[in-house]
Amino acid sequence: MENKTITLDGKSQDWSNPSKRKATVMHELGHYICARSLGYDSKIILDPTKRFYKTWKEEKENIPKMQALEESAIVGLGGLVAEEYMHANKDDALAGFMGDYKELFGIMKEIKTLKNQDFPYQFFLYMPMTEFKEYYDISSQIIEKIGGKQKLEEIADKIMPQLKDDNENIIKFG
Ligand SMILES: [Zn+2]
Repeated sequence: MENKTITLDGKSQDWSNPSKRKATVMHELGHYICARSLGYDSKIILDPTKRFYKTWKEEKENIPKMQALEESAIVGLGGLVAEEYMHANKDDALAGFMGDYKELFGIMKEIKTLKNQDFPYQFFLYMPMTEFKEYYDISSQIIEKIGGKQKLEEIADKIMPQLKDDNENIIKFG
């Protein structure tokens, strides 16, 4: 991962384009695999009619706040790890990651506050990726451990022919 601040605008996901559709599915699989590996009940929701693509995870009860935050960061970064498999150009992977970046900004701010560490950024795009590198590395390790790009593509290729274009798709496995 490069040490840089993001300057891209998010691009809207184009469901009608097969390679972009696959990148979306891979992205959500990255979140999902991390969430499941950390023991969260989860599901992927893909709704092309609403342009709504999300991985939902249930919160764990009675875990320390710091653990919840750190696990949320790891799950959040799973999307980026998976999207990077799909793009030669890292900026294209980041474009699909803007929503997550905003969310990570809030999570990192809470983590740093709890740790009494500096968090000088006023806006999510000012936060460099080095701030969450340790969580990115854990996401990457989790996904690599289950088989990395090859495994994710295998799952995506199995899922994609079954997806409906005109309705909500809910994906749950493992
Ligand atoms: Zn995401």
